[in-house]
Amino acid sequence: MSTDAGSVSAVPLEQRLLHLVRDVPDWPRPGVVFKDITPLLADPAAFASVVDGLAERWSPTVGGPVDKVVGIEARGFILAAPVAYRLGAGFVPVRKTGKLPWQTYAASYALEYGEATLEVHQDAFCRGERVVIIDDVLATGGTAAATAGLVKRAGGEVLGLSVLIELAFLGGRAAVGLDVHALLAF
Ligand code: AMP
Repeated sequence: MSTDAGSVSAVPLEQRLLHLVRDVPDWPRPGVVFKDITPLLADPAAFASVVDGLAERWSPTVGGPVDKVVGIEARGFILAAPVAYRLGAGFVPVRKTGKLPWQTYAASYALEYGEATLEVHQDAFCRGERVVIIDDVLATGGTAAATAGLVKRAGGEVLGLSVLIELAFLGGRAAVGLDVHALLAF
């Protein structure tokens, strides 16, 4: 696993990124292959490429302009915040239940492994603001669909979802019913 941007520059971006995603079998429970992106985040060139790649899809001349970028707790925060900065947009956290201090809207949903409730602040968006949702992995689509519902309920217009990794065999793209952009697909 190289972290030297100079020595890997001839290798296509997708291959470099794939090389930096670690499969962890049977975590957090048997039968799940967890996509660990920490090696990728630790690689300066790869991390920058991912942020640029996610932001590019929503630049003003492509799919933007964007008013707010939503990050889904917790790994979504790591990607969404720099994408928001890159796009000149605001950042909005969608968090697990009980973490946000102000009045919230809540949505419960099923995960690939378990169940969860997500929340967003009720005043996170002005009516009609153009919103992009960012997460690390799209699996079954439940997390993204719940987040899109929260954004709409809070007054935002969802332009689409960008993820680093799409687990295409789980059918999340169809389930989520959004314009989905993924940098890597398995
Ligand atoms: P889902 O709601 O099934 O689309 O699951 C997506 C959410 O769960 C994302 O926030 C991911 O961080 C996490 N997730 C689900 N499956 C995996 C996986 N195989 N590897 C890493 N994260 C996952």
